[in-house]
Amino acid sequence: MNLLKDISLKNKKVLVRVDFNVPLNKKKEVADNTRIFAVKPTIDYILKNQGICILMTHFGRPEGRSIDFSIEHILGEVQKTLNRDVIFVNDCIGPKVKKAAESLKAGQILLLENLRFYKQETQGEEAFSKNLADIADVYVNDAFGTSHRRHASTAVVAKYFKEKCAGLLLEQETKAITQFLESKQHPVTAIIGGAKVSSKIPVIKSLLSAVDNLLIGGGMAYTFIKSKGGHIGESIFERDMLAVCNDLLKEAADKGVLLLLPEDVIAAERLDNNAQTKTLNASNIENGWMGLDIGEKTQKTFNKIINDSKTILWNGPLGVFEMDSFSTGTKAVADAVVETTKKGGFSLVGGGDSVAALKKFNLVDKVSYVSTGGGAMLESLEGKALPGIVALSK
Ligand code: AMP
Repeated sequence: MNLLKDISLKNKKVLVRVDFNVPLNKKKEVADNTRIFAVKPTIDYILKNQGICILMTHFGRPEGRSIDFSIEHILGEVQKTLNRDVIFVNDCIGPKVKKAAESLKAGQILLLENLRFYKQETQGEEAFSKNLADIADVYVNDAFGTSHRRHASTAVVAKYFKEKCAGLLLEQETKAITQFLESKQHPVTAIIGGAKVSSKIPVIKSLLSAVDNLLIGGGMAYTFIKSKGGHIGESIFERDMLAVCNDLLKEAADKGVLLLLPEDVIAAERLDNNAQTKTLNASNIENGWMGLDIGEKTQKTFNKIINDSKTILWNGPLGVFEMDSFSTGTKAVADAVVETTKKGGFSLVGGGDSVAALKKFNLVDKVSYVSTGGGAMLESLEGKALPGIVALSK
């Protein structure tokens, strides 16, 4: 993979694919600028080396041009976070964009309108990609979170450039994932949670060849428990994944991986922060009750394994952490990951909800690396080559 340091940027127009797909609050203000802040080092680097930045991003899922999804909503926050003036043009291809790009001077930043106003972006259309490429000399991909998509601005545009490379964020993200996958620092432990087991099956399968311990919590644990004949009451599960989960349990045993499911759970009769709760055996949940967090015994077992580990991956909450009554398990795991990091262990945390949990508990800067990618991180962990990264080497 080519890196920024390998390319001379002086007086060159650098087209940078960023991921400014940030959440807005009800007043349509940016609610979380993490993704903007994450690419600041790349932008600073290009400008310091006398390059010119042209930034392009998607924002939401508009169907055609729509004011609700205009980049204008985030322009102010981009200027504030980058601490620089940013010129905005309300299109991403065409004569207006060409004119704006032509008049740019070293040290300036141009931000283009939402790429997804054109359906050609998600279709990865060649002509659209060429139009994007026409205004610049160098292409930089710094949108790790969208690099698993075969879109025009991530996977196709690169072929129209002789000079192309990864931005500093993309470089860091791939390094962190490689550090986890190739770690010689054992024990290696993965903690996987979240609601949907189907979305995590491929990564669990791959992790069985990389880890010593696999701790499974969250709503997805109940499909595994049921597949072993456990009684899960009203807890969520995916019927068509029962056989797959059972096979994974067998595969883990064959490979000598210690795969642990919750022993006890905090259960309630309804998904409500104020509902009455009780701790139940995870394999013997009464009818009418659903498991919504891991119980105290499980927290202790998981914490011991995390504390004894040297390398950790965490993806997905252990319970419905958004509600305080069901956030204890996720908090306990987050604390244990932080403790291990303090002792010199390497911890990689990714996926929107685990990162949101770290934020809720004010622990974001206490782990080794927080990934900005959800799907992209999972696919990388599965060992898949991401189209947006492959394109940089062609
Ligand atoms: P996912 O998008 O699959 O990673 O799932 C994240 C969501 O899983 C979060 O919003 C959690 O509230 C939810 N979750 C975690 N544990 C449970 C559970 N035991 N029952 C229902 N939902 C859960």
